[in-house]
Amino acid sequence: MEERRATGLPVYDFGLGETKGALPEDLRAAGERAYREQRTMYGDPAGLLELRRRVLEWLHLEGRYGPEDVVVTSGAKQSLFNIFLALCNPADAVLFDAAPWVSYQPLAVAAYAVPIMVVPRASGSRLKVTAEDLRRNLLLRPHVKLFLLNNPCNPTAQLYDAREVEELLSVCVEHRVYFVLDRLYWRLVFDGVAYAEPRVDEETKPWLIQVDGLSKNFRRAGGLRIGWSVAPRDVARAMTNLQSHYTSGPSTPAQHVALAAVTRAYDAELLNDLEEKRDRVAAWAGRLPGVDVWPSPATFYSFWDVTGVFGKRAPDGRTIACSEDLAVYLVERAGVVAAAGAAFMQEGYLRVSFAVPADELEAGLAAAAEALGALR
Ligand code: PLP
Repeated sequence: MEERRATGLPVYDFGLGETKGALPEDLRAAGERAYREQRTMYGDPAGLLELRRRVLEWLHLEGRYGPEDVVVTSGAKQSLFNIFLALCNPADAVLFDAAPWVSYQPLAVAAYAVPIMVVPRASGSRLKVTAEDLRRNLLLRPHVKLFLLNNPCNPTAQLYDAREVEELLSVCVEHRVYFVLDRLYWRLVFDGVAYAEPRVDEETKPWLIQVDGLSKNFRRAGGLRIGWSVAPRDVARAMTNLQSHYTSGPSTPAQHVALAAVTRAYDAELLNDLEEKRDRVAAWAGRLPGVDVWPSPATFYSFWDVTGVFGKRAPDGRTIACSEDLAVYLVERAGVVAAAGAAFMQEGYLRVSFAVPADELEAGLAAAAEALGALR
């Protein structure tokens, strides 16, 4: 990639997992203020009390949980690691959905848990796990502690609706395993569709853990490293206890930025911009030879089934045998960078991030179309 750039050839970086653009002005001001007022001493390891209160409002959970149930973390990633560490004994199994985000497995392994991917049986499921798939796996494996669902999903961009979420949650409650919902992209749901909140009541609360954060729903916010979880009180307490020893809680100035972010009304500018780009990608769908572009009802990813090009030959004679081969070919011939599906335990796909400027998106898709058309 750098070699291409150095020689002046274009590079279209569709590999990134974050949005660019400007950090909103009021969030910058909140960060500046935090440093100016020297809010730089150790804080509560569970996070700022006011932020934990506001997080509950942001998630529409006020009145149903208290701030004691919220743990603010260094990115959503630390929430996930806390969960694995707090809940799993060595060799306990954790179930993931069918195209697990790249860090789930290493985080689980680092917590001495055994990661297992639930493989959907229904044809045409677009890698969505059904209640039946989950039940089958739970019956097979007695040591499962939790099922982790990423909705909407990175990398597939698939969105589980209210009925699907409820069915999966009910199976977890029935089997007394935790239902961990990674909802990091929940504000980025297109076409006016409302995000399917999980049912929160006396039956589900002991088993429900939600993970969220700043990194995807706000522009340029990934490096602030702020996430949070909402969990049953005993689990939240264990997670706080853990992180009090390994990070002492997230950076205080960054938490003040997060507080400003979740306190203001959500600005739909990012959502509208991404929806427009999603439509641009969809318009290219029939013009990318050998690629089946899945619909993206949410997130900023387009998931491409590229098995249609396997076995074809590039102009230099090499055969495209897997998604990694195709990813390398697209970089070398067209300067198009995309993530190969193997990183998400799904061979045969590419993940294309469309959170890039519109002209770059159009030029990159045109370059990809040309490169795909040159395969024989
Ligand atoms: N979960 C999913 C599905 C993600 O895509 C990511 C980041 O890419 C994370 C968790 C981690 O988020 P953070 O950067 O807030 O730690």
